[in-house]
Amino acid sequence: MGRPLIFGDAVNFELPHDLVAYLAELDDFIEREIKPLQAQDDNERFFDHRREDARTDWNRGGLPNEEWVALLVEMRRRADAAGHYRYAFPKEYGGKDGTNLGMAVIREHLARKGLGLHNDLQNESSIVGNNVGLLLMLHHGSEEQKAEWVPKLLEGTSGFAFGITEPEHGSDATHMETSAYRDGDEWVINGEKTWSTGMHKAPFELIFARTSGDAGDGEGITAFLVPTKSPGFDSSTRTAFDRRRRRSVLRSTASTVRSRTPASGRPSGSRCRTTKESSSRSSSS
Ligand SMILES: Cc1cc2nc3c(=O)[nH]c(=O)nc-3n(C[C@H](O)[C@H](O)[C@H](O)COP(=O)(O)OP(=O)(O)OC[C@H]3O[C@@H](n4cnc5c(N)ncnc54)[C@H](O)[C@@H]3O)c2cc1C
Repeated sequence: MGRPLIFGDAVNFELPHDLVAYLAELDDFIEREIKPLQAQDDNERFFDHRREDARTDWNRGGLPNEEWVALLVEMRRRADAAGHYRYAFPKEYGGKDGTNLGMAVIREHLARKGLGLHNDLQNESSIVGNNVGLLLMLHHGSEEQKAEWVPKLLEGTSGFAFGITEPEHGSDATHMETSAYRDGDEWVINGEKTWSTGMHKAPFELIFARTSGDAGDGEGITAFLVPTKSPGFDSSTRTAFDRRRRRSVLRSTASTVRSRTPASGRPSGSRCRTTKESSSRSSSS
């Protein structure tokens, strides 16, 4: 590693040697295992000028094509088997305890190579996973939630959509209008979310809602894991694209919540629990 930064010094942009070595290891893995996969069976169609059509199931309103999804699953499987996919995760979960600096450098390195099966900024797929849902669960989930969710999130066998963005609030997320209040042993959640990637198949959505404080406050936002089959949960898939003008295909899904969510335990007929205790400490991302 370069020498430590001392007050008065110029900023030291030198990268730690172990990180430089790891970038070379990733390059080698891409050459050996990812590029050949991208080259076979005309998988290049998912990355060249044909990619919009190749990735899109037009008969299902523009949702991701099954072949495209299967290719991503195989990419992830190879990256995980080689020990790269979980770089950012704790060692106890098969990761490398990767640092934020490491993630930033790695992801920039991968992006700089251009579009490919190794990394795609449009849909956040990469040989080095950026699994925000899993990291949130590790930091803020209850022991019960972690036991249930971490294995599924690690293996990619299940997941939850991420519901922070609203029709009227994107970057200004702390101004969200979705709110929740406690009514007896239930939480009542009201609001509307949009751009929730993967909503078309998600069994749960992690819904961020204001539970205290004022619009714009960093504190007072709670994350609720809400089953998408809950009464009052209306999920619709709206695909924003215009084929005639060949705009990029963006997959937009929306959910409207008028839902009652049990506050604790595992009540009959529902697997819903809140994450209030943990998420309210840090929930304003
Ligand atoms: C492919 C895709 C997938 C997505 N998936 C999810 C998801 O799974 N879950 C989810 O919750 N959301 C998701 N989003 C939503 C995404 O997080 C929002 O688009 C993002 O928060 C930006 O909000 P916005 O689009 O409303 O843009 P705006 O907030 O309207 O910003 C528009 C422009 O103004 C700039 N801007 C905004 N505020 C300021 C400011 N104060 N000062 C200077 N410039 C500013 C922004 O940088 C940007 O260039 C997804 C979006 C896309 C495109």
